[in-house]
Amino acid sequence: MFKIVKGHERIKEFFKTAVKTNRLHTTYLFKGREGIGKRLFAKIVAAAILCENRENAPCGKCRHCTKIKNHIENPETTTHLDLIEIRNPERKNEITVEEIEEILKTTNFPPYLGRARIFIIDNCHLMNKTAANMLLKTLEEPPANTYFFLITSKPDSLLPTILSRCQQVYFSTAGLENFINLSEITKEEIKAYLNSGSGFLTGLEDVKNIKKERESAMLILESITQKTSFIEIEKKITEKLEGNTREDNSRLFFILFTMLRDILSIKSNSKIINVEFKDKLEKIEKKLSPDFIFELLEIVKKIESGLYYNLKPVQLFSLIISEGRRIKL
Ligand SMILES: [Zn+2]
Repeated sequence: MFKIVKGHERIKEFFKTAVKTNRLHTTYLFKGREGIGKRLFAKIVAAAILCENRENAPCGKCRHCTKIKNHIENPETTTHLDLIEIRNPERKNEITVEEIEEILKTTNFPPYLGRARIFIIDNCHLMNKTAANMLLKTLEEPPANTYFFLITSKPDSLLPTILSRCQQVYFSTAGLENFINLSEITKEEIKAYLNSGSGFLTGLEDVKNIKKERESAMLILESITQKTSFIEIEKKITEKLEGNTREDNSRLFFILFTMLRDILSIKSNSKIINVEFKDKLEKIEKKLSPDFIFELLEIVKKIESGLYYNLKPVQLFSLIISEGRRIKL
């Protein structure tokens, strides 16, 4: 099952041995840049802990492995009852004491299905002080058969008392792009996205979603420069955005920014991020002045904030197009 995560071979070996020889620590801190598979890795270690085949854990076949595998594929709909997660608090910017209390309640009971219970706290640096102290109490006297995986891209924001309780594991991005093989996106582009520090890549599965968002972003840019009928454009955008989550939409905004920056890069003969769209971007670049792009960047920035006020994404992106069309060429 470790194959699901690309790269990080040394960490894989470390955990395989630790599980086999029963030498796991109670608490691990997985640190490293966003989007390199830390959370996914924690889930696979969880499978290894729960797996019924100790010699070859995680076997990928027993009921625990199967459940966790299904959960990895469909995180919204399936779960393993002994794998408890706090995830995606990015938009809230805080993990509260109530949330920590809620998950720790389960430690009053033995695990439901397996021999242990595993907690994953993603973006653990977002715990406020009370929440962190509440967790600390449990980490100081961990209940039997309980494991914690704290995950962060900002270990410096954690309380030293929490850090001192954790066995720290650093996930490096070195060589990661070599393991990604998707036809829709080049390794170079993935590297550029990772290096952009946007933090919108929270797992390798996100990389696959980029394709859709890039097409939408391109459509928006082209719609500004081509004078096609607005009704037609709105229909196309509605289709593209259908079923998008808020995360998808904020990723779309991010890609829109990278494309606008790319147009400026083409003007100054520098490297661009969205290499796959080079031809299309060059076409747009010929039509637009740098002033136009700067003005458009400002507009996109302003309109993006509407996403956080729960305005309809279709309206926001349509607004970008209509405002963009009003800028003098
Ligand atoms: Zn198994």
